[in-house]
Amino acid sequence: MPSLPILVLNSGSSSIKFSIYEAGDGERTRLLEGAVDGIGTDLGKFWIKDEGGNKLVDQTPALPNRAVAFKIVADALHSGDFPAPAAIGHRTVCGGPTVRENQLITPRLIDEIDSYAALAPLHTPIAVYIMREALRLFPGTPNFAILDTYFHRTIPEVAARMPIPDEYVALGVRRYGYHGISYESIIYQLQPNVPEKLIVAHLGNGASISAIRGGKCLDTSMALTPTSGIISGSRTGDIDPGVLIFILKKIAETTSGALDAAEKLENVVSKQSGLLGVSGLSNDMRDLRESIQEGNARARLAVDKFTWTIARWIGSYVAELNGLDMLVFTGGIGENDIASRAEICAGLGALGIVVDPVRNNVRGEAVISAESSPVTVRVIPPAEDLIIVNHVVRLLATPSAELSF
Ligand code: AMP
Repeated sequence: MPSLPILVLNSGSSSIKFSIYEAGDGERTRLLEGAVDGIGTDLGKFWIKDEGGNKLVDQTPALPNRAVAFKIVADALHSGDFPAPAAIGHRTVCGGPTVRENQLITPRLIDEIDSYAALAPLHTPIAVYIMREALRLFPGTPNFAILDTYFHRTIPEVAARMPIPDEYVALGVRRYGYHGISYESIIYQLQPNVPEKLIVAHLGNGASISAIRGGKCLDTSMALTPTSGIISGSRTGDIDPGVLIFILKKIAETTSGALDAAEKLENVVSKQSGLLGVSGLSNDMRDLRESIQEGNARARLAVDKFTWTIARWIGSYVAELNGLDMLVFTGGIGENDIASRAEICAGLGALGIVVDPVRNNVRGEAVISAESSPVTVRVIPPAEDLIIVNHVVRLLATPSAELSF
């Protein structure tokens, strides 16, 4: 395949991040990265950096809505100052029950993903909007949906099935799993020596953990939505369903309409809980570590709840894998928060996980387990855009991979 510029788009509620890679046979070079950030404000940010980190664009445009934000990106990429993309890969958080494979984006595919927006209400509406806009603003350029759920398609039915009546399962309620592109990128970086029994903890503002056997996902902590699993920045993680019913009944006392009440509940469990809810201070680990230094007991409890939950999850995944060869930390907290890694692993000696405090005193890529540790413990930053590019290159060479739903 000749070398082609591939655009990666990663859209969130207030930002659109992007990068362009030059990709040919075995060759992957990042040419630039950029973002429009602060959508919905008068003073947004629009920047582009080259591969050396030099700022090529640094502006503060008004970004009243996502249409304006995406047009700014498209105009810049059409200006002739940057390589025009030959193909586009869209990070797609959830395709619903029918769209399980990475594939070419067509209007029909977008409608299909959109029809299951209720399953991922915080992610799907913005993703399908950007897909439609990309088809319009980059006519003739193939666009591909690269799914965060794709990596998790191998989890067995016993982990995927929810213990609820069939009528809800038939609507698409099951464990999908998230952060899949990050997990794939860890496996990619471990090749060719991917351990047989591997646990990866993706600890960022959103946090999840996966049990991986022979490079394939066996189980993952996030389920139907990213709110589930381990406690994260502002999400509850798994919680007694009775708590949700109790809160919903409380909300219903002052709210008319079941849908409004459900939305308020969604706000509580995904935006006001987790580290933020327990600490009453912040969803950000750096803030909480600072507050702990100042003796704040609520910050201490929030972080203890976080590390305690993850340690328990690691224990259950060691049982599920029937052993463990390697534990990998990734994500903003996994890569940078030395204390969280130490606290999570402190009680796991019986599972063969022994972290060396000197080796652990790093940020970024490292082996942090003690020489004597039966389990290797590593820190590996994710390389999600690279994985999206790899899928796009593969799909460009597979014309039959259209519409597999
Ligand atoms: P992410 O969502 O992967 O960008 O990760 C965001 C989380 O990583 C936030 O909770 C940050 O506080 C945390 N984080 C980033 N840098 C550091 C650092 N140097 N020390 C501790 N936590 C950090």
